[in-house]
Amino acid sequence: MNNPQINKIEKEQLSRNIKTDILVIGSGIAGVVCAYELKKHGYDVVLVDKDQVGCGVTKKTTAFLSIEQDYLYHDMINDLGYEKAKRFLNYNLEALSFYERLSKKADIGFQKTNLILYSTKNENKILNEQRALQRLGIETKIINELDLNMNVKKALVIPNQAYIDPFKTMFFLTKDLKIYQNTKIIKLTSNYAYTESNTIKFKIVIVATNYPFLRFKGLHFLKLSQKMSSVISIKYNQLTNMYLSIDEDGLYIRPYDDYTIIGGFDRNLKNEDQNNLQSLENTVLDIFPNVEIINKWINQDVVTLDKVPHIGRFDMLHQNWYLVTGFNLWGFLWSYAASQIIIKQIKSNQKSYLTNPQRFFLNKAFVKHTFNTFKSVFKFKKPRCTHLGSSLNYNTESGCWECPSHGSRFKKDGTVVNGPAQKDLKF
Ligand SMILES: Cc1cc2nc3c(=O)[nH]c(=O)nc-3n(C[C@H](O)[C@H](O)[C@H](O)COP(=O)(O)OP(=O)(O)OC[C@H]3O[C@@H](n4cnc5c(N)ncnc54)[C@H](O)[C@@H]3O)c2cc1C
Repeated sequence: MNNPQINKIEKEQLSRNIKTDILVIGSGIAGVVCAYELKKHGYDVVLVDKDQVGCGVTKKTTAFLSIEQDYLYHDMINDLGYEKAKRFLNYNLEALSFYERLSKKADIGFQKTNLILYSTKNENKILNEQRALQRLGIETKIINELDLNMNVKKALVIPNQAYIDPFKTMFFLTKDLKIYQNTKIIKLTSNYAYTESNTIKFKIVIVATNYPFLRFKGLHFLKLSQKMSSVISIKYNQLTNMYLSIDEDGLYIRPYDDYTIIGGFDRNLKNEDQNNLQSLENTVLDIFPNVEIINKWINQDVVTLDKVPHIGRFDMLHQNWYLVTGFNLWGFLWSYAASQIIIKQIKSNQKSYLTNPQRFFLNKAFVKHTFNTFKSVFKFKKPRCTHLGSSLNYNTESGCWECPSHGSRFKKDGTVVNGPAQKDLKF
């Protein structure tokens, strides 16, 4: 939610060689929850971040905690089968309970509420999703109107969902963790991580850098891309529910203290110049006329080809390297699931087949992503991304050069804003 408070998490920079049982690279919500849970299990854990703690994607999140994440379970039962859809749901239910338990220990702004899943275009999809949820054991209720200035075809009320304050949560979780910030990892070998001037010896490493920062290892670039979303906060405190649209260009809406946060108009970075933030603003002003706009921003997250995150062994070559990524804009619940999946694998070599990063795809999304990558790599246009050499597009709204293949973004002057690129552009 773009709150400057998060910058107040003060941690030192690494200035000597160290060793640890477990090194976690990346201190967004994923790295932090993994480190917090591993520490609880008695491991010696060190967390490092190239910037300040929690200042990546996590800083600009909206922090819904919801088992429903788009038009999901109907497709998932059809594509992956009932058992995998049930497993997916259970990971999310377990994570909801985790945040509820945390809220008993500290004020993390946890608030239970309904999630209202709606469509302004397609009532069948809402009915399909209700049937899918019912099969999975989740009772919901259909309504035909919202308490918002918006005409819907149908909506589904899903009780017992929640939202949190991401900054309070990050403060609490990082309180007792051993963290080094401004500590960028530039190279990884079997048991060592290297910064410009120091080394960290580890038994196990967890890469939680959002998009994996290693370029070719694991070939993750074949399976991961990024999606961008626009967000606006307004001065409005009359909402109690959260809302989530399943339509393209739909919205997600939640209350936050005296404000309301509205996001939407998601786009793949392959689309050239678009004014999504402006479109969002126009829509917000239709729903909440004359409201005061407090803040607006854009943010992006890693998306996968089957809507299931990538959590498990980093590659086939390293038994002690793990990866947690691909949260499809739902990383808060998935960070807890990630921590539990990794702990099981470390302790008893029990793999999660659902989230295994090595799972193979040969679906429409894979073909499209591969075609898109080749197209931009072989396009004769500069500047080129420092990650894999894709030709970049300039987006006037974000004021950035954007990689249409893997989602790196660079400021106009070439400075990296978002990975996977680790190096600035040279014009
Ligand atoms: C607009 C928007 C709204 C969202 N809303 C929700 C929501 O309502 N609910 C929900 O559950 N999820 C939501 N998400 C998704 C969620 O915010 C993300 O999935 C989550 O924050 C990702 O966390 P992360 O730890 O993977 O990444 P990050 O927060 O980006 O953390 C990765 C860290 O790794 C560090 N790093 C990178 N490279 C290196 C390196 N070489 N060495 C050291 N450190 C490195 C970075 O500096 C960064 O701090 C939303 C996402 C977006 C874009």
